[in-house]
Amino acid sequence: MVTLLRKTYDAIVVGSGPGGASTARALARRGARVLILEQGSAAPVTGTLAQMASMAAVPGRGAFLQRDASLLVRGITAGGSSTINFATAAPPPAALFARHGIDLAPYDALLRAELPMAPLPDELVGPMAARIADAARELGLPWQKLAKMIRPQACRSGCWRCVYGCPYGAKWTARDLVDEAGRHGAHLVAQADVRRVVVENGRAVGVKVKIDGAMHTATAPLVVLAAGGIGSPRLLHRSGLAPERVPYFSDPVIAVMGSVDDIDGGAEVPMAAGMTWSDEGIAFADLTLPRPMYQAFALQVGRIDRLGAHARTLSIMVKIRDDIGGAVGPRWVGKPLTAGDRARLRQGVDTARRILAQAGARHVFQSWHFAAHPGGTVRIGAGVDADLATATPGLYACDASVIPEPWGLPPTFTLLCLGERLGQGLAAKR
Ligand SMILES: Cc1cc2nc3c(=O)[nH]c(=O)nc-3n(C[C@H](O)[C@H](O)[C@H](O)COP(=O)(O)OP(=O)(O)OC[C@H]3O[C@@H](n4cnc5c(N)ncnc54)[C@H](O)[C@@H]3O)c2cc1C
Repeated sequence: MVTLLRKTYDAIVVGSGPGGASTARALARRGARVLILEQGSAAPVTGTLAQMASMAAVPGRGAFLQRDASLLVRGITAGGSSTINFATAAPPPAALFARHGIDLAPYDALLRAELPMAPLPDELVGPMAARIADAARELGLPWQKLAKMIRPQACRSGCWRCVYGCPYGAKWTARDLVDEAGRHGAHLVAQADVRRVVVENGRAVGVKVKIDGAMHTATAPLVVLAAGGIGSPRLLHRSGLAPERVPYFSDPVIAVMGSVDDIDGGAEVPMAAGMTWSDEGIAFADLTLPRPMYQAFALQVGRIDRLGAHARTLSIMVKIRDDIGGAVGPRWVGKPLTAGDRARLRQGVDTARRILAQAGARHVFQSWHFAAHPGGTVRIGAGVDADLATATPGLYACDASVIPEPWGLPPTFTLLCLGERLGQGLAAKR
């Protein structure tokens, strides 16, 4: 470990989620010597509840209980949140990035040609997703299969493990790019907690990182913060380069659930199909989750009577584009819903209830809101420029923190495009 840090590097990438992994790979492919420092473990994914909980349910690390009792989660592990996410892909919103002088189309085309990104074949769409889709379409809603970052040939029906971490290699994760960066010579050091950026003569020259309880210094002329929407602003603050508190978005979600008598399921790929109301900032999808997660939702809202109904319960995700507000602080995260957020959630929940009624579901109830897309904390145009450069020469950010406006979309594919663009751009300047 210590030997690794003594080597000379051209670039240090902090965090191995979609933003960091794509930047690291693009740099390494072009001959840069890259060090990836990742706070979480790189142990192989086993697809178990216990491993997922160690990545995303440890309070203050992967899970944050906000003041209004809503939960915000992230994955602290190699691959970041992509390791435990729902694998839904959406193209980068061209108009939004054009407003900031950024064209992601070439990177979109490049990555789309390489990564698995397509609707699931019918045989992998579970019975609950199919029932919800039929009901939505009967109501005249434009419910369609969603693009998934899943290799269908390795995926299996009757499985619930996407969100625990797919042990079958079916779900694409940013670990794939980290591995490829490694094949081009990049070094990944896992369980490496970066504490701050080292700045000398006004320039970033490396980072201080805690490994096995000991502090080390890693040096490189380029440092890319990709510690995620919560991690990157905290690192900037600890380095004296950003305020203590920064506002954020989180794309809050409510799961609306109801039971039917003629399905015995509960194990299928979540978000197989859905629809997005872009103008309103509301997105919908089926959301069949593993039993313990369903039960946690039911318990949180006191629906003890529904605890045993998982295998019969259809679940619809209502996700909104929330206003930027609240604060990511040094040790906590908190953001109350605005009146606009509440109105969007209400409108979405009403529609989800109509779909469930059409599907013949009864005992309909809804979860408390929760979120898994923290971002907008080091925004393009504020914390970084259009090249993702901070005001400190040599220091860049590339992760959900740089998303410049309220979001409401699956972020992963956009972050991959941003990382590819940054990595190529930095490599060209070397
Ligand atoms: C349950 C769930 C479902 C989701 N579903 C989808 C979906 O279907 N589609 C989609 O597009 N998105 C989804 N997302 C969101 C998506 O996965 C994230 O938006 C995306 O992974 C964010 O990428 P990132 O590069 O910003 O950082 P992250 O993925 O958050 O990665 C940041 C990395 O930095 C590391 N790190 C943090 N601090 C430090 C430090 N101090 N030192 C070293 N390392 C550090 C972390 O351990 C982590 O590995 C989901 C998320 C969750 C949690």
